[in-house]
Amino acid sequence: AKSEGRNTSAYYSDGMTQSARERLTLESRLRNAIVEQQLSLHYQPQIDLSSGRIVGAEALLRWYDPDEGFIAPSRFIPIAESSGLIHEIGLWVIEQSCRQGVLWLQEGLPPLIIAVNVSAHQFQRNELQQQIADTLLSSGFPAEQLELEMTESALMTQHERAVGMLSSLKALGIRLAIDDFGTGYSSLAYLKSFPIDVLKIDKSFIDQLPEHQQDAEICKAIVTLAHTLGFDVLAEGVELAAQQLYLQQIGCDCYQGYYYSKPLPASEFSELLKRVGL
Ligand code: C2E
Ligand code: CA
Ligand code: CA
Ligand code: CA
Repeated sequence: AKSEGRNTSAYYSDGMTQSARERLTLESRLRNAIVEQQLSLHYQPQIDLSSGRIVGAEALLRWYDPDEGFIAPSRFIPIAESSGLIHEIGLWVIEQSCRQGVLWLQEGLPPLIIAVNVSAHQFQRNELQQQIADTLLSSGFPAEQLELEMTESALMTQHERAVGMLSSLKALGIRLAIDDFGTGYSSLAYLKSFPIDVLKIDKSFIDQLPEHQQDAEICKAIVTLAHTLGFDVLAEGVELAAQQLYLQQIGCDCYQGYYYSKPLPASEFSELLKRVGL
């Protein structure tokens, strides 16, 4: 009984579950990663379907851990969000993207759109607008080349506030995109009230194109809907020539995906651009 009691108390004092302990470890490693500058951005080309040209790049976070190698965003973004580190990391992503954009312009690259992912947690804070205004000013990056990607769920709660926030961001002259479109619960009434520029069709609708009849029709409907509302449409996760061809046929504006290129370090991205022709 005595040893049982001791075991019980040992259990309770160490009452964190395995997964909670892993989260905590990853959180402290992520804090360290920021200090040690283990975070970087890769850039995935965005292609205009009618001209075939690279018109933009999505900035995607990479964490290189010297022991473990690359740690996927799907593993560390949720921890960055629950710990609040996302605010610091997210601001760094915006600043770094703008700095990189200026370097590319200085290198002679054409004015590309740089699309940056913004977490719902960042969108919740009113300081986001001022941070972006400050970053544009200090970096000298042209506002019209910066695009923010936000998911539907970030926008669909608190409609009034979301419209106000989006309008104040739009007033800076930047572009706004809805990411992973079709996977959330967009209200069409809300959608038409948002001052956005682009809908990004989620990869899950692209995967089985063009054979999957329902997905093919859904993509067609999204393109029509977007154009009706005055938005551009970009398809994400395009891996096959047949998918690219189908999207071109239905009048989708742009795409990105492994079919053209995976996300690349900044230097490789600019080499690619110079190779395919400015
Ligand atoms: P997302 O914003 O939907 O980004 C697209 C993801 O699909 C990226 O994964 C990209 O590398 C991957 N991808 C692109 N083309 C293809 C393709 O043809 N096939 C396949 N299988 N995958 C493709 P990644 O880089 O692992 O990022 C995953 C998610 O992490 C992103 O999804 C985004 O939600 C989040 N994330 C990444 N960077 C940031 C960031 O800077 N801030 C925030 N808040 N979230 C980020
Ligand atoms: Ca995205
Ligand atoms: Ca996406
Ligand atoms: Ca997605």
